[in-house]
Amino acid sequence: MEALVQSRSLIKRAFWLIRLRWVAIAGLLCAVYFANTFWAVELPVKKLYVLAAVLLGYNFIFFNLAHFLTFRRREVSPKVSNGIVFFQVAADLVTLTLILHLSGGIENPFFLYFVFHMILASVLLTRLQSYVVATFGVLLFGTMIWLEYNGILPHYQLTGFIDNSNYNDRLFVFGTFTVFTTALYLVVFMTTSMAEQLRRQQKRLERANAQLKEKDYLKNQYVLRLTHDIKGHLAAIEGCLDMVLHRLGGNLTEQQEDMTNRAYRRAGKCLDFVKALLRLTRMKLTGRMDKEKVSVKNLVKDSIAAVENKAKEKDVEINYKIDDSLDEIFAEPILLEETLINLLVNSVKYNLKKGKVFLKVTDKGQTILFEIIDTGIGIPQGQEDKIFEEFNRASNAREIERDGTGLGLSIAKEVIERHGGTIWAKSNSPKSGSTFTFQIPKDIKDEQKDQNG
Ligand code: ADP
Repeated sequence: MEALVQSRSLIKRAFWLIRLRWVAIAGLLCAVYFANTFWAVELPVKKLYVLAAVLLGYNFIFFNLAHFLTFRRREVSPKVSNGIVFFQVAADLVTLTLILHLSGGIENPFFLYFVFHMILASVLLTRLQSYVVATFGVLLFGTMIWLEYNGILPHYQLTGFIDNSNYNDRLFVFGTFTVFTTALYLVVFMTTSMAEQLRRQQKRLERANAQLKEKDYLKNQYVLRLTHDIKGHLAAIEGCLDMVLHRLGGNLTEQQEDMTNRAYRRAGKCLDFVKALLRLTRMKLTGRMDKEKVSVKNLVKDSIAAVENKAKEKDVEINYKIDDSLDEIFAEPILLEETLINLLVNSVKYNLKKGKVFLKVTDKGQTILFEIIDTGIGIPQGQEDKIFEEFNRASNAREIERDGTGLGLSIAKEVIERHGGTIWAKSNSPKSGSTFTFQIPKDIKDEQKDQNG
């Protein structure tokens, strides 16, 4: 499995190689054109353009291949993906050697570009393969300059750039080749060492991440069992207190009634907290989502109806606007409604008396955007992200609402992210309300797929 993931990421990195090659083709065409037209350097222009066309052709093939393997999510064995990258690097070296041969051979300073290929190979391939690539480069370059030196291959003089030939100067050829060879191997040695270190570090991080996930899973299971037990006891306590308050055990004195009432309210709050924690933990553990068609208009109306009483108590006015183009989306109806209700409850809870709430639902094409704008206490600067963390409450929250679990927004975040969306909050301006926004995909296509298949 890990090997397949690595193989996919190698294919993705091959895209980088392909993009670089587009740039190289443009660079080659420009260099040939300018050198020939403006600086009057003599070049076999046609042959070089043919090489550019070959480069273009095989880059197109590699582009389509990488595209096919990545986006069709074909499972490619690491051997194949490595082979594809290796083949590309080798093809590039051959092309570079041919370009150099047609443009001055050893006298063309562009031979330094072999170094780039070595760096690329060292980053993308294994250490052994990188040394094989370096050796291949040395062999190609060495063969070219040797054949030109011995007159077996013609030498294309870069007249206009270098007028005195050096390609047949034994000392120059030997010296340049030695520097070239050592430079290539040194570059491969240094880059592969660094790349290896980074790979090892990445593996360590991946292992640590897997361990954290495992521990998180165990923690969640522990919390789930614990909260489940506590919930049962709390429900029983609440039930008993309810019976006492309904005089099933006889009449109560005023003081007894007051204390029982307080105990009942506290038990209720505690039960709400435990239920929220239970839901969040269960969601994290199972990640289950039973999506179905949801009417946006009904969702909004039902959610607002659910908070109407709370809003009336505080004289908060709630208005909404839904884009006409919106009809149905594909989502988990209960969780989505709970999330919307949760945000609306907060916008009333953290609002001022006679405050306002505005719910705006916008059609964004593939996605749908919900904005809950209120005129409440706002969120202190720098705490906009923190309030989505479990048990986190903003510093100004207690002034207006003493009790709170700090779990509602974590649940909302979990639900929205499970829908493949994002949620965020911002203060409109200090002390003048906040806007909570979430965006989720409409996912209507998924639903069609399900129906078809
Ligand atoms: P709770 O409301 O129970 O504290 P939540 O997770 O729903 O838990 O909210 C976390 C915190 O985010 C709140 O305590 C409050 O500080 C802040 N918050 C949430 N909604 C609003 C809002 N509409 N305006 C200002 N602050 C808000």
